Amino acid sequence: MIYHCPNLDCHSTTKNRLISKDGFFFRRSDSRKIQRFVCKTCGRKFSRATSTLEKYQKKRRINRRLFLDLATNNSMRSCGRKYKVNYKTIQSRVNYFALKARKAQKKFLKKLEKSKVQAMQFDDLITIEHTKMKPLSITIAVDKKRRFVLAAEVSRIPAFGLLAEKSRKKYGYRKNDHERGLESVFEKIKNIIDQDATIQSDEHQAYPKFVRKYFPLAEYKRYKGGRGCVAGQGELKKLRFDPLFTLNHTCAMFRSNINRLARKSWCTTKRVDMLQKHVDIFISYFNLIYLKGAIPI
Ligand SMILES: [Zn+2]
Repeated sequence: MIYHCPNLDCHSTTKNRLISKDGFFFRRSDSRKIQRFVCKTCGRKFSRATSTLEKYQKKRRINRRLFLDLATNNSMRSCGRKYKVNYKTIQSRVNYFALKARKAQKKFLKKLEKSKVQAMQFDDLITIEHTKMKPLSITIAVDKKRRFVLAAEVSRIPAFGLLAEKSRKKYGYRKNDHERGLESVFEKIKNIIDQDATIQSDEHQAYPKFVRKYFPLAEYKRYKGGRGCVAGQGELKKLRFDPLFTLNHTCAMFRSNINRLARKSWCTTKRVDMLQKHVDIFISYFNLIYLKGAIPI
């Protein structure tokens, strides 16, 4: 491993031998000896921990288990109680995990560019931001055969149906970000979908525009949505054969494993950016840990 001087104007590295070792320090938070370095040109001191994302963390021992807990139906506050840390620590860890998860997902998609996706399904999952009068939409794209979640993007949408009028009265005009969310999902996956792949979705009116724009040669099929089989399990359809099964099953897993997406739950999203982070954490867990041990459906 080559270490660079953290001073940006300085070009010293361990490779050009302008950095020398400078003893150790003992890190109490995970009982490890950490190598320190000193730059010979500018005199700047640093260590192996300086350039890592975990820098300044004081509770490193909880990281692994906390990551798994956040990705398997635990709320942030209940995790705080479980690990006997402040809830603000959990919040800062969510930020850290999300950063790591996004990096991992980027790398994962880069890898998929070699073995292009032949069949893609996408749809929206509806959830709320503190009240039902402020709905959110999560656009999700999955690989039909291999079940990978390719991208997911949270966007604000205005209230619909019976609550629309009431919502406008109480909270005023709410901007529709749905198209921006769709655009961002397609932008992320445009390189990994085969040009003549099969793309499947339901009959949402905003979809065809984006499919035509990004994948003009693809075969695009639309299906009518069915009713849910059990109350509260709207994703698992009451159909003999559900053509969008992979997608609906993945959405059901989102609801079951991300605590704040569960229906009839005490936990709701208060901040949209935190929901996006939580979703990113789950995607990383799903693609890189869960699917490794899963039985094919
Ligand atoms: Zn230096």
